Amino acid sequence: MYHLSSAAEKRARLSEGAMTTLIRGRCVLTSAPAGPLQNAAVLVDGPTIVDVGPWEALRERSPDAAVVGDGGGIVLPGLVNTHGHFSEGLVTGMGETLTLLEWIQRLIAPVAPHLTRESARVGTLLRGAEMALSGITTVNDLFVCSPRAKDPVTPGVVDGLEELGLRGEVAFGAQDRSDPRPIDEVFAEHEALASAAAVSRRCRFRLGIATVLAQSPELFAASVRRAADAGWRVHTHLQEVREEVVASRQEHGLTTIGYAARSGLLDREIVAAHCIWLTDDDIELLAAHEVRVAHNPVANMILGSGVCPVRRLQAAGITVGIGTDGPASNDDQDMLEAMKSAALLQKVSRLDPTAMTAPEVVRMATIDGARALDLDGVTGSLEAGKDADVVLLNGRTPELAVIHDPYQAVVYSATNRSVSDVWVQGERIVAAGRLTRVDLDAVIDAARELADGLAAAVGLRDDPHLVHPEVIRAAGRGADAGSR
Ligand SMILES: [Zn+2]
Repeated sequence: MYHLSSAAEKRARLSEGAMTTLIRGRCVLTSAPAGPLQNAAVLVDGPTIVDVGPWEALRERSPDAAVVGDGGGIVLPGLVNTHGHFSEGLVTGMGETLTLLEWIQRLIAPVAPHLTRESARVGTLLRGAEMALSGITTVNDLFVCSPRAKDPVTPGVVDGLEELGLRGEVAFGAQDRSDPRPIDEVFAEHEALASAAAVSRRCRFRLGIATVLAQSPELFAASVRRAADAGWRVHTHLQEVREEVVASRQEHGLTTIGYAARSGLLDREIVAAHCIWLTDDDIELLAAHEVRVAHNPVANMILGSGVCPVRRLQAAGITVGIGTDGPASNDDQDMLEAMKSAALLQKVSRLDPTAMTAPEVVRMATIDGARALDLDGVTGSLEAGKDADVVLLNGRTPELAVIHDPYQAVVYSATNRSVSDVWVQGERIVAAGRLTRVDLDAVIDAARELADGLAAAVGLRDDPHLVHPEVIRAAGRGADAGSR
């Protein structure tokens, strides 16, 4: 259904003088049934891919198209980041020795009330820039902050994504247990974000639930009801750490997944981050409800959370995408690093180099990620009729100078330094390694100023659990900062 109706129509569109581009590679990884193509190209007309095939044939067919790529690099679908938090955009690189619950208590919760629409916008610009420069074209975000009914925060995410040109699934990670709020106030924030997304070019709203246990039973029930009534898709975390499963069993007599299923949450279209601590029953429930999973290997390793049983999930028919997770738990937004980490974590934890392969990782980071977000009709693979979300990796770099197997080159050799060009819906948002739509220097200046203010307001740089004591001493603060 996404193929243009006829070759004649294609030719007509091409001859209208619309902007056409040929993106050329030594190899094109399509993530489509066509598989990998050697010495091939992607022909883009306006926002749409019109053909993918041999370079010479496409060149002959479209001699006037602009050509990007010297034929020595790798072309692949725009990468789909299935889980992140722009709310952490200004608090990166702290608290490396904390477990998840400690890290939430010491960093995420104290920061949440200080976030504003402007800091959301700037944090999104900064981390969205990092994402785009690593080949990400679609991001699924869960912004955790205190709701502000009169002055909503989360539309700042849509502002930032629109400026960058990224495609986004946007959600407000609502919670009210550690920070009690009237339910109306929480829903006003959801509604404000939904309205901002509705008038955006490339954002779509999801109902966010920070975690099931972070919501009061009243808010959780209201969230499930509203998602059903409004037909909203959902974004949450599920069973990231063992403590969560124990707490859920104590409170509800069920794992979080069992409780979420009983409450009706899993009847919604839902993407859940992590899914690490799972029983066989949990996996059956995830499969039966077609829950899609976002696997975040780097954050899981930094926080010491555990290893997602990716193969068991996939064997049960569950779609698993890859995420960077937030910039405070990762602590970067480099999708190529997350992809390499996904393979390495499975291999070393199972003591088995066949535990995950490069073609599987590329599939997870592209078409499976798009499927996880219910966007596989428009992105995630290079096929005629789909939106032109495309990445070109430069072959004229030390790391990609020699390519024997393009899948292994992408997953193990490429770095964000290799990303040369990125298109979203045919719009070139990165050209020759530079952002085209925003002034990165200005974003960096604004981010530093806001981050300094945030750190001072919350006292982040004086907490020896977040910043190493010798750094605090070197800054002349807290000779009495103590040791851990
Ligand atoms: Zn997360």
